[in-house]
Amino acid sequence: METLKKFFSISLLFTFAIATFGQTMPQRDRAVRPLVCDVLIVGGTVVTMDGERRVIEDGAVAIKDGNIVKVGDRKSVTQNLTAKRTINAAGKAVIPGLINTHTHAAMSLFRGISDDLDLNDWLTKFIFPAEAKNVTEEFVRAGTRLALAEMVRGGTTTFCDMYYFEDAVAEETKKAGVRGVLGETIIKFPVADNKTPEAALAYTEKFIKKWKNDPLIVPAAAPHAPYTLDTATLKSIREQSDRLNSAVIIHVAETKKERDDILSQYGKTPAAYLDSIGFLSDRTIAAHSIWLTPDEIDIYKMRGVGVAHNPQSNMKLASGVAPVPAMLAAGVAVGIGTDGAASNNDLDMWDEMDTAAKLHKLTSNDPKTLPAEQVFEMATIGGARALHLDGITGSLEVGKRADIAIVDLDSLNQVPYYNIYSALVYSTKAADVRTVIINGRVVMLNRRLLTLNESVIKKDANAYRNKIILSLKQ
Ligand SMILES: [Zn+2]
Repeated sequence: METLKKFFSISLLFTFAIATFGQTMPQRDRAVRPLVCDVLIVGGTVVTMDGERRVIEDGAVAIKDGNIVKVGDRKSVTQNLTAKRTINAAGKAVIPGLINTHTHAAMSLFRGISDDLDLNDWLTKFIFPAEAKNVTEEFVRAGTRLALAEMVRGGTTTFCDMYYFEDAVAEETKKAGVRGVLGETIIKFPVADNKTPEAALAYTEKFIKKWKNDPLIVPAAAPHAPYTLDTATLKSIREQSDRLNSAVIIHVAETKKERDDILSQYGKTPAAYLDSIGFLSDRTIAAHSIWLTPDEIDIYKMRGVGVAHNPQSNMKLASGVAPVPAMLAAGVAVGIGTDGAASNNDLDMWDEMDTAAKLHKLTSNDPKTLPAEQVFEMATIGGARALHLDGITGSLEVGKRADIAIVDLDSLNQVPYYNIYSALVYSTKAADVRTVIINGRVVMLNRRLLTLNESVIKKDANAYRNKIILSLKQ
């Protein structure tokens, strides 16, 4: 018995020793075992757009499970790290993917259909009739694919969309591996997918619930504008947004006519009117916002509204100049958008940055207005803030999703360069973007699109062109 006891206590001790040994070993192991990341971008100038605005020469970014796990100088990042795949970015800029805060992707099929008109004539004489005769779910899919290809090629990794058949937009966007805040349009007249605002609201409800937890798609409602919906519908949309905790995209104060009409109808200017009916919140994304009063800028700040500034579309339609410097000074989150390709006529965020920087210098008569760094901020982390997505994207920081563009710095239009923000905002073109990663996935490598078929996309677009021309003759 005594022997048996002894045996048990010895074996117990032995088990304990193994258990302890077993516990300590992996710990010691972990200290030396390198971190295995999925993608390592190494070399190049890493423009983080983090809180300290770090720009790291000969930097590196490590990505694992779609997240940025390390960012810093090459030595500190690569120490004790191995990568399944390495991308050499020497001599290039590694930047947060650009954020297009306002577009109508499928409208790329209407690129150049009519130009040089004011918004009212452009919409009522061309766009609305062309849409009525042509927009189907297939049209939206083809147009969205065209837009996605153009955006990825230009380094855009997140876009904010407003159109019809948004569920199809979401499917195409997810397939392409692009991040999107996608809003189903709600408007007072019958449109391709929904014949009434009530039907559009029901569609939106289903759409938001379906996509709510998707890693790439942020589903939203997109009431077209204060002048194309009644107060009761706008209130229902706010109620839905509260209930589903979902974003709301709307055009606000795009033209002087809208401002004057809303003022005479409701006794308040557009943003003040929207606020008076309880519509604005920190989930609202307001496009344009050109004809704002200083009080309305304060309302935006107070409510946490994000703004999408679309300088080229606003210039082309002669809608006016949004008070961007005043909004930024008030602490409003302002991003940059291209608007749809029908009124721009491209989805090129580089062009748009360049225009934003110059437009506000001209109108303020002060070349110090909107310096390059501030404009680059609007196209990255500022845009993420405007879309209420700055928790996950917009900068290269540990813990954020890996939405990254690698950009050449040695094209003829870029050499020599002295200041990285100047080079990016004033000299770089969309064609200088080389590689794009979204949510950790490489979607363009050395200018080759990996998730979208460029030749099929172009063929489809040209076929739609012929169909659209015929439809407008009928
Ligand atoms: Zn728009």
